[in-house]
Amino acid sequence: MTQPVRETSLEEYLRDDALRMTEQRAWFHAHPERAHGEKGTVAEIARILSLLGYEARDVAGGVVAETAPHGPYRAYRADIDALPINEVPGRPYGSTVPGMMHACGHDGHIAIALAIARWAAEHRSELPHPVRFIFQPAEETASGAMPMIDAGALEDVMDILGVHLWSPLDVGTVVIHDGAIFGNVDRFQVVVHGKGGHGGLPHRTKDPVVAASHMVTALQSVVSRRIAPFDIGVVTVGRIAGGTAFNIVPDSVEFEGTVRTFDAGVQGTVHEEIRRVVEGIASAWDAAVDIDIAKDCPAVVNHPAMVKRVRHAMESMAGRLVETVTDPVTVGDDMAFFHERVPGCYLLVGSGNAAMPDREHHQRSFDLDPNALPLAAELCIRTLLETDPA
Ligand SMILES: [Zn+2]
Ligand SMILES: [Zn+2]
Repeated sequence: MTQPVRETSLEEYLRDDALRMTEQRAWFHAHPERAHGEKGTVAEIARILSLLGYEARDVAGGVVAETAPHGPYRAYRADIDALPINEVPGRPYGSTVPGMMHACGHDGHIAIALAIARWAAEHRSELPHPVRFIFQPAEETASGAMPMIDAGALEDVMDILGVHLWSPLDVGTVVIHDGAIFGNVDRFQVVVHGKGGHGGLPHRTKDPVVAASHMVTALQSVVSRRIAPFDIGVVTVGRIAGGTAFNIVPDSVEFEGTVRTFDAGVQGTVHEEIRRVVEGIASAWDAAVDIDIAKDCPAVVNHPAMVKRVRHAMESMAGRLVETVTDPVTVGDDMAFFHERVPGCYLLVGSGNAAMPDREHHQRSFDLDPNALPLAAELCIRTLLETDPA
């Protein structure tokens, strides 16, 4: 496990490239596109890659390019979609698309991947294995990875690496989790069928509003009373809808929510308990109920050999990048589908600083500190230069 790169030279290379990374990130930030609508983003990525000498091709709405015509490849994946959020006004690099914003840092992911591709184009002979770059659409809907995989994005790929910038953590920190870093994401939908009628004569109805209210309240106890204290689980009801007027008991009410877990056993228990609670309350209120629980995205589980490789690659960045330990995060990422097929490592790279008003992702004042970009690129290049088998 050695890396032939001259350490200061890579650091210097990326220091020289930092402004370009910041500018490219700013361009993508200003031009956000929603999941499955990333046409301009894809075109700009392909344009930059072809200027670097790559043959970029469209694969299932994303972009794929390689440093060599034949594998086997090490893959590097970046997600490219934005979110339907109205950005806070006044930023020089702010979104030019009303109601659309890069509020998860995927603009930075693109800039990092392009910097790695730029370095790789100039240093092909130093790479122990050729690299395939995968720019993936529609991560936020967890529906971009599988079409790319089905279209062959992982053919002849040995392993995969990727970065998620993480603004709750400071620049200069990285999380390299052994095992699961992001959780299972499931979705449940419930329709409560009662019997509508006059709001002044509720005893002649089967009120689904009251039944659904009891269900939502009771679901709060699934995690606290059915899951062991040190197991991880989340049950959130995010939407509820029913009724047409203040004085009418409606026929039905529907609600939906999400389940987040890390362990398959816990996941099964939570699903079972949701059904039991909802069906039990429906029966108590003499209402009928339809329940649908779907698994949207599995957990992102890092492979031990890949984790070891990243840690080794990081040794020469001591003092500039520090590994920090956090709990796994109960969000999802369809990087999981790649990791299910080849050994993978997904890193969280700190991109926040104390001056940010709100560091949470998926909200309108989200931002990232561009100083994170060269650090992330350097760690990934060093990992791609490692010579051990995963
Ligand atoms: Zn996101
Ligand atoms: Zn994201």
